[in-house]
Amino acid sequence: MKKFFSLLLVFALTVSLMGVLPSYTDRGNAAIDLFSEDIEGNGLIPLENAGAVPASGDADGDGELTDWDAILFERYLANWKIDIVTDGLDLDSDGEISDWDAIILNRFLCGWNGIVLPDGSVSGKEPVETVVHKKYFTMSFDDGITQDARIIEILKKYNMPCTFNINTGLYGVQWDWVAEAVGKPGLLHKRFTKAEIQSGIYDGFDVEVHTLSHPSLAGQYEGNVSAIKRQVGNDANNIKQLTGVEPCGMAYPGGLESDTSDFVIRTILENTPVRFARLAVNRVNNFALPEYWMMWYPTCSISNISYTKTLFKKFLKADATDHDLLFYAWGHGYELDQYDCWDKFEELIKMISEAEDVVFVTNAEFYEIFKDQIPSWKEN
Ligand SMILES: [Zn+2]
Repeated sequence: MKKFFSLLLVFALTVSLMGVLPSYTDRGNAAIDLFSEDIEGNGLIPLENAGAVPASGDADGDGELTDWDAILFERYLANWKIDIVTDGLDLDSDGEISDWDAIILNRFLCGWNGIVLPDGSVSGKEPVETVVHKKYFTMSFDDGITQDARIIEILKKYNMPCTFNINTGLYGVQWDWVAEAVGKPGLLHKRFTKAEIQSGIYDGFDVEVHTLSHPSLAGQYEGNVSAIKRQVGNDANNIKQLTGVEPCGMAYPGGLESDTSDFVIRTILENTPVRFARLAVNRVNNFALPEYWMMWYPTCSISNISYTKTLFKKFLKADATDHDLLFYAWGHGYELDQYDCWDKFEELIKMISEAEDVVFVTNAEFYEIFKDQIPSWKEN
């Protein structure tokens, strides 16, 4: 493959499609309505991003319409990410550039294993490289509570990245109501103090927003720009001061769909650095990437350990040939006390960390990889 493309580099002129596709009409089977107003440089822009100006025709600008032009269009329409290379491709070395060369190249690009040339030699032996999709694993823990320290100890042992969503308006606060709500007297749900966080508990991990004081944003602040901006933006600023890294995401307090809204999302996007937001509503059988960053559904709750294990095994068997896949586990550290399952949690982390062909990332790293491919939210 490399050899082939170095051949292209040597012989080919790279031609911009801009302005050389004036009137592509009626080319038999190759008649294509191509719409683009922004074909830049050597690149190919995905059709879904294209505008509404029809552009087509003499793709290589040689003054005639040949199969070669059709092939260029075909490649363009297939979203090829390589440069448009046209002139000088005398693949059969017969001293002229003809449709025959175009056909050889096209077959090569379509993954043909080679074509026998008129002189008996074989050209284009190597199949085109297929895009290899990946499986990603990410996880997060909410509330910034003292159990996070024990989680971090385990994660470090297995070199596992993780995101922690913290509330910088509730330093050191103990929530007794959690113990009552889950019927486990004495259960701790105590947030770290500012000094504890400053001592570097979360160093090396991703720290993201969970708002200042954990309100339901839509439940309490629908229509209130300044309150949402304060809850999300100030938490982000505080985290930046604590860690030196500006957060780019959050987990919604409460985490139900009703805890957010179109208004909340637009307010966050317009007023804060937050660009993704995780719900606490699981989509257990779906390893798809999020449709919108601001409505990021996780896969499952990690405190349901045996279930997470079963689901992760299913994830390992899932086919990532055509699409990237994501397994997103989320939880709270107190749940590991609640179910008294720290040993099982460590076993689970060990098992996950040993998985082959899985890329382990923090939420922020995952966002960084896919930020240009997934919209934050619906357009107006
Ligand atoms: Zn929370």
